[in-house]
Amino acid sequence: MEVKIGSSVLELVQGDITEQDTGAIVNAANRALLGGGGVDGAIHRAAGPELLDECRTLGGCDTGDAVITRGYKLKARYVIHTVGPVYRGANPSTERLLESAYRRSLEVARAKGIRSLAFPSISTGAYGYPLEEAAPVALRTVIKFLRAHPEIERVRFVLYSPADLRAFEKALG
Ligand code: ADP
Repeated sequence: MEVKIGSSVLELVQGDITEQDTGAIVNAANRALLGGGGVDGAIHRAAGPELLDECRTLGGCDTGDAVITRGYKLKARYVIHTVGPVYRGANPSTERLLESAYRRSLEVARAKGIRSLAFPSISTGAYGYPLEEAAPVALRTVIKFLRAHPEIERVRFVLYSPADLRAFEKALG
């Protein structure tokens, strides 16, 4: 599924984020930035050990913030590491932190002149954010940013399972 947001494109696909050829891919990291399970582990495996070496120099990342590294063996030139909130029941501050993780990732991309990026669904794995609640927050934040910043030409959400893709498609509808 693909929609136009001004002159930019927002895409929803099922797939593996490590295989994306966008200028940057976004990693759903943890605050230590030293690797982990889920999408984080997959990105580190695909990028190779130099990614961890660079991450070690960064001194971590706050929840809701984002930092950038090179992509090493990935097709994407850069990895933007963001830290989503751990879900502990629906509340406005958790939602704001999820919003912030998406927005800060986009801001970091824009500051580097990156024109296309791929996001996984942040916080909806080990961090327990229900997909049906996270998808509208993710989409709303990205759409708002693209309306204000057409220099980001393409944002692709790469959903890992068919069910995840369906939840995002439903939210976009
Ligand atoms: P978090 O700790 O932010 O919840 P996880 O990595 O546990 O991060 O999960 C985030 C989402 O990423 C989940 O929906 C999970 O299914 C998905 N995911 C896991 N591996 C990949 C991958 N290779 N590509 C895209 N999405 C993935």
